[in-house]
Amino acid sequence: MARRLPTTTLRLFSRRLNTASSSSSIAAGSRPSKPEPAAPTIVDLDDHRKLFSSVSTWKLLRSTVNLGLVANEMFVDFGMWVMNSRLVETGLVRDVILKTVKHTMFEHFCAGETTEEAGKCVRKMHEAGLRGMLSYAVEQTSNNDGCDRNLEGFIRSVDLSKSLPPSSVSFVIAKITAICPINLLRRVSDLLRWQYKDPSFTLPWKLNTLPIFTDISPLYHTLRKPEPLTPQEEQDLELAHKRLQDLCRKCVDLNVPLTIDAEDTSLQPAIDYFTYSSAIMYNKDGNATVYGTIQAYLKDAKERLFTASKTADKLGVPMGFKMVRGAYMSSENRAVSRFGYDSPIHDSIDETHSCYDECASFMLERIANGNDAVVLATHNLQSGKLAASKARDLGIRKGNPKLEFAQLYGMSEALSFGLRNAGFQVSKYLPYGPVDMVMPYLLRRTEENRGLLSTSSIDRVLIR
Ligand SMILES: Cc1cc2nc3c(=O)[nH]c(=O)nc-3n(C[C@H](O)[C@H](O)[C@H](O)COP(=O)(O)OP(=O)(O)OC[C@H]3O[C@@H](n4cnc5c(N)ncnc54)[C@H](O)[C@@H]3O)c2cc1C
Repeated sequence: MARRLPTTTLRLFSRRLNTASSSSSIAAGSRPSKPEPAAPTIVDLDDHRKLFSSVSTWKLLRSTVNLGLVANEMFVDFGMWVMNSRLVETGLVRDVILKTVKHTMFEHFCAGETTEEAGKCVRKMHEAGLRGMLSYAVEQTSNNDGCDRNLEGFIRSVDLSKSLPPSSVSFVIAKITAICPINLLRRVSDLLRWQYKDPSFTLPWKLNTLPIFTDISPLYHTLRKPEPLTPQEEQDLELAHKRLQDLCRKCVDLNVPLTIDAEDTSLQPAIDYFTYSSAIMYNKDGNATVYGTIQAYLKDAKERLFTASKTADKLGVPMGFKMVRGAYMSSENRAVSRFGYDSPIHDSIDETHSCYDECASFMLERIANGNDAVVLATHNLQSGKLAASKARDLGIRKGNPKLEFAQLYGMSEALSFGLRNAGFQVSKYLPYGPVDMVMPYLLRRTEENRGLLSTSSIDRVLIR
């Protein structure tokens, strides 16, 4: 089924992407402006028969239909309107919507509703030479009971990883918003921001951490000196730390690395604080168990990565980072228009691309020098090819466990298979859980994949 697509078609497509407006908020597989000399690549995306040889014809056909739907602006606008409307609150309509989502978006982008289904999906990935990043897809919880339940879900992911073929699971993923009440994360972020503005401001509960801010980090969310945490809040913070530590200990015991996802900048200081304080406790003997995430679309991403790595070096803490571009553009933009400040996001997609590639390059050099570990999480063909070539030039062994490429399940299959064929370790990020729980994740994917120039459109061309 996966016939070799004439290279000219793909080039034509890339040329269209190269002429896209740089202010486009749509994902793009190659750079929109400033044509650069093609980097010599070791990732072959031209032989489509070989690329998709491990995928059944039926799966390819279904993927094309689903990707076509999410690239269709009218379908997406209507879908987003329905999902954000009060219609979803009505019993019958809700059932119909959830069923429709389950048989389209959910089946395409998610690994299943239960741990068992997620396990089955990992086995299939493994047979295709890919690994799985298990993501029990809960987010944003308001109370301690919900956080306790979510922790159980994360712990089940770690347990699941041990019942699957060795090394078929590369990471377990967690979101801090699922194990610490959201209002408390806001309060902690406020207090950390204020302390950065005024170092004499003491935070008695604060644990040892790596730097969280730089001089260009956005501090506008906190305009007034926040009240200290109440005894109840301190107690809740303690509970949240304990949850994360239970998860980290489980990961250390079963030897599965844990990656903490990045979210939006109103909460990210607290998320980084949780991540770094746990990394200091659990990343030992040259091994990173706890990985943080850096979003390259943020103006301060590079400096934050550099200063956190430098401080980790001084403390003798091996660090791991997942590098992404970032998926919260609309909420960031909404927050900025409310506050009337400069956006924390780069002014153009070109700057995001450069930032991503520079951060990736920085991490690859550190790996070549025996420090740290990185997950290069991207669907961008050029970033993937550049990083693969750089890894080869630096002499990073192909199966080096400190370098992982990753794409979301249901996206950029060509890049995943191309990197796998070139001998690199490649993972798919596998969200799973009940359909209604996974909805916020699906909404972010819809936004990312809409339009003619999105990753999904490139995938469709390659699959066809
Ligand atoms: C394994 C994995 C894990 C992930 N984990 C996280 C996570 O923890 N947190 C998170 O936020 N995201 C996460 N993501 C999602 C990720 O952020 C998006 O998939 C990613 O941004 C898409 O970009 P790309 O690297 O594929 O490149 P492309 O598709 O080429 O780039 C598109 C991206 O560029 C940026 N962009 C678009 N327009 C502009 C503009 N006008 N100005 C500046 N920048 C712009 C946006 O980030 C957009 O998503 C993860 C992705 C993967 C593959």
